[in-house]
Amino acid sequence: MFDYDSRIAVGVSGGKDSNALLDVLNGIEEDFPRSELIAISIDEGVEGYRDEALELAEKATRKMGVEHLTLSFRELFDITMDEIARIETNMTPCSYCGVLRRRALDQAAKMVNADRLVTGHTLDDMAQSVLLNILRGDINRLSNFDPGGRSLPGFVRRVKPFCEVPERESTLYAYLRKIEFQDIPCPYAGEAMRNDIRQFLNMMEVERPGTLFTVFRIGLKLASEKKDVEKKGICKLCGEPTTGDVCRVCQMLEDLT
Ligand code: SF4
Ligand code: ZN
Repeated sequence: MFDYDSRIAVGVSGGKDSNALLDVLNGIEEDFPRSELIAISIDEGVEGYRDEALELAEKATRKMGVEHLTLSFRELFDITMDEIARIETNMTPCSYCGVLRRRALDQAAKMVNADRLVTGHTLDDMAQSVLLNILRGDINRLSNFDPGGRSLPGFVRRVKPFCEVPERESTLYAYLRKIEFQDIPCPYAGEAMRNDIRQFLNMMEVERPGTLFTVFRIGLKLASEKKDVEKKGICKLCGEPTTGDVCRVCQMLEDLT
């Protein structure tokens, strides 16, 4: 996932997984003097939620002595998640947030000249994504399901070191290391399909331990079969890489205006 001299941007949300990941990487990085860690946070603009989380992220990075950059949806897209949520559309706030945050993280990683963009996705998140794409009938999107990441032109390589770490273990790590984190859910989370899938997978994992790993491996298998369907071009509006003429971010921002 990394080279000895990687410049690693760690996406830190202030939640338990990303704060725990930053702590783990900070410990490992001490043995690799030519590597560097920079924390990046995205402020989606969810009042009463993200502001508190960002304070915790700032506190954690300061304590660890890690440089920290925060970039907001307002700065990048001139709109906040609270504003998006007030617009009537047939999509949930999380559908917008997921796409915009992905772009924002990539932009932030480029701003700090990182060659790796690390996120705290756990095994639970990975299994949820696999099932989510299958249930939406969008198996082609699993071509991007690659926890080790790939160096694609125009993108910072995305890496998910906690991809095989169950969420309960990262939570336990955070408690044992006395890492402060935000544990209230985002006010928009309840509307997301992911929430239903999370509950289903948690129930299955209790009834049939190993389900999460099985679903994760199905994702890897499907991804390996989908690799060659990708076709990359450049978005004619923003110049970012895309598979069509206009990228998903620009399509969404146009729909919202
Ligand atoms: Fe964004 Fe949805 Fe997560 Fe809230 S729950 S931060 S709206 S993706
Ligand atoms: Zn675009």
